[in-house]
Amino acid sequence: MAKGEKKGKKPHKNKPTSKKYKMYKIDGDTIKRERSCPRCGAGVFLMKADNRLYCGKCHYTEFLKR
Ligand SMILES: [Zn+2]
Repeated sequence: MAKGEKKGKKPHKNKPTSKKYKMYKIDGDTIKRERSCPRCGAGVFLMKADNRLYCGKCHYTEFLKR
C-alpha cells in the first residue's frame, strides 16, 4: 500500500479573527456600529430586526427611521 495520502485529518487552517471582535465594525446600509441598550448600558447590544433595534434582555425596542 502506498502511504502518499493521509486521510482522516484535515490540514490545520488559521482561523479568522473571532466574530465577537467584529461587532464594532459592521459596514451595513444603516448601522455602522452596534447600538448598545440605553437601559442595560454598554455591553448589551441591540439586535437588529427589520426596521427596529431590539434588546433581548429588557425588551427595549427602538424604531429606525427611513
Ligand atoms: Zn436592554
